[in-house]
Amino acid sequence: MRPEARHAKAFSSLPLAAELLDNLESLGYLAMTPIQAASLPPILRGQDVIGQGKTGSGKTAAFGLGLLSALDVSRFQVQALVLCPTRELADQVAEELRRLARMLANVKILALCGGTPLGPQLNSLSHGAHVVVGTPGRIEEHLRKASLDLSSLAVLVLDEADRMLDMGFQAALEAIVAATPTARQTLLFSATYGDSVRPVAERMLREPVNVEVDSTH
Ligand code: ADP
Ligand code: MG
Repeated sequence: MRPEARHAKAFSSLPLAAELLDNLESLGYLAMTPIQAASLPPILRGQDVIGQGKTGSGKTAAFGLGLLSALDVSRFQVQALVLCPTRELADQVAEELRRLARMLANVKILALCGGTPLGPQLNSLSHGAHVVVGTPGRIEEHLRKASLDLSSLAVLVLDEADRMLDMGFQAALEAIVAATPTARQTLLFSATYGDSVRPVAERMLREPVNVEVDSTH
């Protein structure tokens, strides 16, 4: 590998906070995966991104480092929302975001998924959060109940968008997007980019940068 190519894959080539760079090193994330190397520069510039890559390609850290960099931790409002197709995936994403955020002071990350009682979630929401990770049905329910306020949202992530649409979440996604500011950054990740995803992406994203990667390393 040419030296400049190796350098281009180092996280330290990105404008990331020192706490995030130190943490990536302690997690053993020594180099960016291809989808991270291709998507993080436009994500950190604030652009909308459509990222297509296989399972295991490192998509969570790609959008995770982006949304954590966009937070103003001194404002205790929901500034980033990650939508996932299932509770299992949402829990995994929340766990990875907490790992990535552990050297940042006081970042509150809350998972809100269906299939679990509403009461504890209402209680957690009353204490506030910077980042919410959830499934579309339950997030829409919180919006209807006015228990979740997305008016300060800066970053919206649609993770595994193809699966969310296959599962019939289109109407919920539309309702959620309608509750967010139009000036947000929108990041859409998907294993495939076919006829179900394209029209939705065209409505929800603004001049997106397309990143397609077929290898994991
Ligand atoms: P995807 O969402 O694309 O399926 P994940 O974001 O779940 O993939 O990442 C897959 C695995 O790779 C996770 O265990 C994650 O911790 C790890 N990982 C992600 N990025 C890196 C990296 N740059 N270096 C080492 N491991 C990484
Ligand atoms: Mg994933």
